Amino acid sequence: MASITLDNVVKTYPDGFTAVKGIDLDIADGEFVILVGPSGCGKSTLLRMIVGLEDITDGELRIDDVVVNDKAPRDRDLAMVFQNYALYPHLTVYENIAFPLRLTKGKFTEDEIDQRVRRASTLLELDEHLERKPANLSGGQRQRVAMGRAIVREAKAFLFDEPLSNLDAKLRGQMRTEIARLQRTLATTTVYVTHDQTEAMTLGDRVAVLRRGELQQVASPRGLYDQP
Ligand code: ADP
Ligand code: ADP
Repeated sequence: MASITLDNVVKTYPDGFTAVKGIDLDIADGEFVILVGPSGCGKSTLLRMIVGLEDITDGELRIDDVVVNDKAPRDRDLAMVFQNYALYPHLTVYENIAFPLRLTKGKFTEDEIDQRVRRASTLLELDEHLERKPANLSGGQRQRVAMGRAIVREAKAFLFDEPLSNLDAKLRGQMRTEIARLQRTLATTTVYVTHDQTEAMTLGDRVAVLRRGELQQVASPRGLYDQP
């Protein structure tokens, strides 16, 4: 678990366009923060700067009070879940979940990998499907495998980029419940990007509303309604 602090964070793209205009945000250890706003307001840019896929132009990003602006993604120890879950079709569910651990080449023994994969798959109710291939799974099961890949690393925080936007309405509802339960169980710091109002109002401890690269409001889901 970790705190994440953004201190006047700015992103100007090489073409001169400033997509993020000086954001201040303190995310507490274990907190679940929703980042919401219309398409193009800078949500993905912000998330990608936190995870390290995009350089920060100005300002400071701190994880557990350590400045990480210049740290490579792998040294930030955060786990990202994308909307296109990009599973490896030729690998089983087990091997898809184990994959991030195998990438660390020798950091984990085969026993440790096995324990972690089984812990993740129990949490996600995938135990019965470990030997199956992604093509034979339902959309929800595939999304769970993608989440398994994130949680198996036992990273400091989860970053979700519109993870449910490719699912149908019913499945989206189920996965929403699933993500809320998982976050409560693991109590891992979470930043969740969405443009879906229902997700924004039901999932998080706090909602940060972004508009044209600026933070318009930060409040509890209830507080968003109460404000004038
Ligand atoms: P969101 O995730 O909220 O839809 P993005 O963070 O993807 O928004 O984009 C924010 C703004 O930055 C948009 O106006 C987009 O066109 C622009 N943008 C994103 N990526 C780049 C880039 N590589 N170069 C220039 N502008 C970009
Ligand atoms: P999202 O809204 O989910 O961020 P987009 O379709 O806006 O998705 O962006 C997809 C990809 O294209 C991202 O990698 C983003 O950085 C890039 N991109 C978006 N807008 C621009 C732009 N104006 N110039 C260059 N790249 C862009």
